[in-house]
Amino acid sequence: MPRRWLAWLVFSVFLGNYGTSDLGAQGGAVQLEGQAYLPLPLVATRIGMNSYWLEGYQTFRLRSQWTNADFPRAGRTIRINGVRVDLGFSTRLHKEVLHISVHDYGKVLRAILTPQVFNQPFRVRRIVIDPGHGGKDPGAVVARPALQEKDIALKTSLYLAEQLRAAGFEVVLVRDRDVFIPLLERARIANRHRADLFISVHFNAAANANARGIEVFSLTPAGQPPSGRSGLTAVDRAVHPGNALDARNRLAAYHIQRALITVSGEVDRGVKTGRFAVLRPLECPGVLVELGFMTHAGTASKLRSDAYLRGLATALARGVIQYRDHLGRFID
Ligand SMILES: [Zn+2]
Repeated sequence: MPRRWLAWLVFSVFLGNYGTSDLGAQGGAVQLEGQAYLPLPLVATRIGMNSYWLEGYQTFRLRSQWTNADFPRAGRTIRINGVRVDLGFSTRLHKEVLHISVHDYGKVLRAILTPQVFNQPFRVRRIVIDPGHGGKDPGAVVARPALQEKDIALKTSLYLAEQLRAAGFEVVLVRDRDVFIPLLERARIANRHRADLFISVHFNAAANANARGIEVFSLTPAGQPPSGRSGLTAVDRAVHPGNALDARNRLAAYHIQRALITVSGEVDRGVKTGRFAVLRPLECPGVLVELGFMTHAGTASKLRSDAYLRGLATALARGVIQYRDHLGRFID
């Protein structure tokens, strides 16, 4: 039996089925600042990885044959194979041992590092692409060079559709021209078509003209604050239909961000979470990609180039294929 499967077997026996095992996952947990936390060395053992501090004791590493996952002494952003991934809660040192919240163990680490936890076979064949904004809603607008988010989102989405179809996927576009479609309707289109994956395509804008880079969002799991905000509020407790797929949402976001950063060479702003209206009602895995800042002068001039937008679409398609293939490894 290959080591990967042996690790999986041990892991499965320990945890039971994914999705019903959160209590099992709490074995060995301690309460820190109101959240259940697990020691990372124990987590590493459970998922068949080695673990150790890097020199300087600022970074704790989980390592396997395929993966490095690096955790800060205190912080909400880890790196998985170099890609920034936001946690719901900060890592914490407790008795000189680094801990991760039980939440993030389930919603981030198990989702990305051990996709064999998806014990129900599923396909990734029909992709619904949602070009952001449209019609009376231009999205972000910059004057020089004149750019409207709705236009470049549509162009990039059309390139992406072409590339995914060439790779054998079925594609449905929420819009293929300049029309306004309400956010809820966009998600409903994905649900009606029984999509296997939903990708909402956007570009960023910020008051700070130096802000740049690419980020990919999935729906924030219930019980966590979204990226960029700490402390739990009432909205953090609501459970949306899209939360049924937290693990697959995050796995898709990770593979898409990884491909985008590798292909574009852009600044990695990370795999983040947010409660976007277009992601909340989804009955399939979904991500919202922010492919660059229109308010950054260097980026804006690149975004005027169709070749650059086509390159972004190529990266997105590669991320979708890697997500599909990564899952496929575990389905016999
Ligand atoms: Zn937008």
